Amino acid sequence: MLEPNTLYIVPTPIGNLSDISQRALDTLQNADLIACEDTRHTARLLNHYDINAKTTSLHDHNETQRTQWLLEKLSQGQSIALVSDAGTPLISDPGYVLVKTCRQAGINVIALPGPCALTTALSASGLPTDSFSFFGFLPVKQQAKAEMLQRSVRKGHTSVFYEAPRRIKDTLSVCVSCFDFEHEVVLAKELSKTFETYVSGTAQDVLDWLEADSVHEKGEFVLMIYALPANSEEAFSEEVISLLANLKSELPLKKAAAIVAQHYSVKKNALYKYGLAHFD
Ligand code: SAM
Repeated sequence: MLEPNTLYIVPTPIGNLSDISQRALDTLQNADLIACEDTRHTARLLNHYDINAKTTSLHDHNETQRTQWLLEKLSQGQSIALVSDAGTPLISDPGYVLVKTCRQAGINVIALPGPCALTTALSASGLPTDSFSFFGFLPVKQQAKAEMLQRSVRKGHTSVFYEAPRRIKDTLSVCVSCFDFEHEVVLAKELSKTFETYVSGTAQDVLDWLEADSVHEKGEFVLMIYALPANSEEAFSEEVISLLANLKSELPLKKAAAIVAQHYSVKKNALYKYGLAHFD
C-alpha cells in the first residue's frame, strides 16, 4: 500500500534489469501515476514486469509546467512515482523542480534506494571514498572543460564525472594536459552490463586504452579522478624498492615502475613518484 499525497522517487536499472528492487516494482504497480523522463522508454520496463500503470512525461523541457499539474494531483491525495530513463532520478536527470516544489508545498517525498552509476562505479573503483564529490557532466568546450576539471579536482579527494561516449576521448586528452602522474584515474564502463570494464592508471594510461581499439570508446562511462595529497609518499617494501632500483639502471623509470608495480601488485603511479623522488 502506498501513502496518499506522496511523491515516490523510484530508481530503475542502469543496465541489468534484475537490479530493480521488489519495493520499486510494488511502488510502480500501485502508484496512481508514474511521471517518466520518457514514457516510451519506461514502457519497456513496465512491460517487462507486466505492470499496467498510467504514465505521463516529465523531462527537462516541460518540468516547470508539469510540476504544477502533478502538485495538484498530489494535493488531491494521489501517490505518484517519479522515474528517469535509468538509475536514480535527479542524479543528472530531471526531477529537481518537482521535488523542490513538493518540499516547499509540504508534500511528502519518499526516495527508494536503488541503482545509480555514481555510487556503483565509486564503490568498486579502488579509489578513496571517504571524501568525494560528484559533478555530473563536464562542459563540452575544451577550455571550459579544462577549467572545470582543474577547479573540481582537489588533493586527497576523489572527483566523479559522467561522460558521453562521443566525448570520452576528448575528455581524457584534456585530463592528460591538466594532470600529472599524481592523479589516479579510473574509468568505469558499461556498469552492470555484459562488457562492464574498469580501467585505471594515469590519464595517459586510460587515454592509451581508449585509443587502442575503437570499440573501447563505445558505451556509458563514469570517470573518477583521485589527486594524491601533497607530499604523500607510499611506503614500499625493501624488495619493491630494490627491484625498482635494479630495473631503473636498465630501463626508463616509468617502464621499470610499471613492471615492479605489476609484479608486486602495488600502485604504479605512486611507485613512479617514489622513483622520481629517490632515484632521478
Ligand atoms: N540517473 C542516472 C544515475 O543514477 O546514474 C544517470 C543518468 S545520466 C543522464 C546518464 C549517464 O550516467 C551516462 O552518460 C553515464 O555517464 C552514466 N551511466 C548511466 N548508466 C551507466 C552504466 N551502466 N555504466 C556506466 N555509466 C553509466
